[in-house]
Amino acid sequence: MLSFDIGIDLGTVNTLVLVKGKGILIREPTVVAIHKKTRQVLAIGSEAKRMIGRTPAAIEAVRPLRDGVISDFDTTEAMLRYFIYKVHNTPGKGFFSLPKIPRPRVVVGIPSGVTEVERRAVQDACLSAGAREAYLIEEPMAAAIGAKLPVEAPEGVMVVDIGGGTTEIAVISLGGMVVNKSLRVAGDELDEEIINYMRVRYGMLIGERTAEDVKIDVGSAYPTGKDDMATVVRGRDLATGLPKSIKISAAEIREALSSTVTQIISGVQEILEETPPELLTDIVERGIFLAGGGSLLRGLDKRLAEETKLPIYVATDPLTTVVRGCGEVLNNLDLLSKVKVTGGLR
Ligand code: ADP
Ligand code: MG
Repeated sequence: MLSFDIGIDLGTVNTLVLVKGKGILIREPTVVAIHKKTRQVLAIGSEAKRMIGRTPAAIEAVRPLRDGVISDFDTTEAMLRYFIYKVHNTPGKGFFSLPKIPRPRVVVGIPSGVTEVERRAVQDACLSAGAREAYLIEEPMAAAIGAKLPVEAPEGVMVVDIGGGTTEIAVISLGGMVVNKSLRVAGDELDEEIINYMRVRYGMLIGERTAEDVKIDVGSAYPTGKDDMATVVRGRDLATGLPKSIKISAAEIREALSSTVTQIISGVQEILEETPPELLTDIVERGIFLAGGGSLLRGLDKRLAEETKLPIYVATDPLTTVVRGCGEVLNNLDLLSKVKVTGGLR
């Protein structure tokens, strides 16, 4: 049977799978629903996400990469296996109709903060999920390649990939990361700030998904000129226990998000301070490139530009930059040997 070359962006919130020559075939949440007692996997991806906050006591919806570390090897493996099978599946025939286990070559983007042990765990997960060869590439590198930046050149290139669980900041030159940092502060933290704000300011309890919707609807990091923009937030009154809804302005939400936004900006500034002078000169000229869903927060680019005094560019379609970078590596095996990747044959 046909085995594809596939690129996987194993994100803390979203997993994307690209098949060489076919494009991005899977974009699903990095969520696995498991039975608490038996640890049996009940659902994966979109189906599992629908269960978050709605699970009966016996079922747990797990985000195995929530903080950029692999909290649970078995669920990560189950997820990788499912996605690898899914892209090989012929529509119309069932999931289990595959005549043979697919043996693809896989390039996986992983957070740069993962330890050597976790790295091996992802590689083993790919191999035991059926991959014939598995290569790991650090997300900032994949993001830079996906944004078509000259990673192999003797020039400094800076990328900031703001995902859900982690913000990856890196300066790349000659195919390697010269300085980098993985902050455990990103989109999830912004959602939590909204939850806290609603609780403290309005005595109201809201769920994670509501908080994320509010962030995407009216969240910002810099005055947008549309501060009268407002949204209705629904939740539960902590005092009465009854449903409650409140109208919240964009300015209030920006206030709620500001300390987390400041932490991300400080992370960028720290990396700039650690960057060798020659490379810094290149970055001053070229600017900083943003990727990841968090880079879509309104005005984040403006705020970063103001604080760093550098040009800031948001990658086109920032949610797919990493997986497209993984795909680029599959197309160009020369690149695979030049950029630092770990892994290989079994
Ligand atoms: P990861 O790579 O960690 O899986 P992603 O790059 O897929 O993360 O980004 C997911 C994060 O981006 C989530 O926290 C999500 O809320 C956030 N996000 C997506 N779209 C927007 C938007 N328009 N504005 C602000 N945040 C967004
Ligand atoms: Mg990511």
